[in-house]
Amino acid sequence: MHEENCVFCKIIRGELPSKKVYEDDETLAFHDINPIAPVHVLVVPKRHISSVMALTDDDAALIGRIHRTIREVATVTGVAETGFRVITNTGPHGQQTVFHLHYHVIGGRQLSWTM
Ligand code: C5P
Repeated sequence: MHEENCVFCKIIRGELPSKKVYEDDETLAFHDINPIAPVHVLVVPKRHISSVMALTDDDAALIGRIHRTIREVATVTGVAETGFRVITNTGPHGQQTVFHLHYHVIGGRQLSWTM
């Protein structure tokens, strides 16, 4: 269910600190330690899934739950009205650096397509 050396699994287990925004039984949302905008929150499934490419049809409900958490994050951080961006970096060309599926929720300023 978790990977011993995965940094986000450690955050989920409470072995590393995080600034929590929202949590339910299947997902966790916390502030990115290196924010690129006034609002930069990561939404992760609590179950270790390495990337979008590791999702299966059985994860359909989890994907719905993740989007519910994204809406919660947008509401709690105040960007629901002004708008925001959701990004999932995948693999080397996508510049994925943490191999535990996560969705960046970015907002709080005007974004350009290149950020
Ligand atoms: O999408 P990517 O894998 O590149 O993003 C990983 C993100 O996780 C980075 O934005 C990084 O700042 C964040 N991070 C974090 N807390 C950690 C390790 C990484 O918020 N302990």
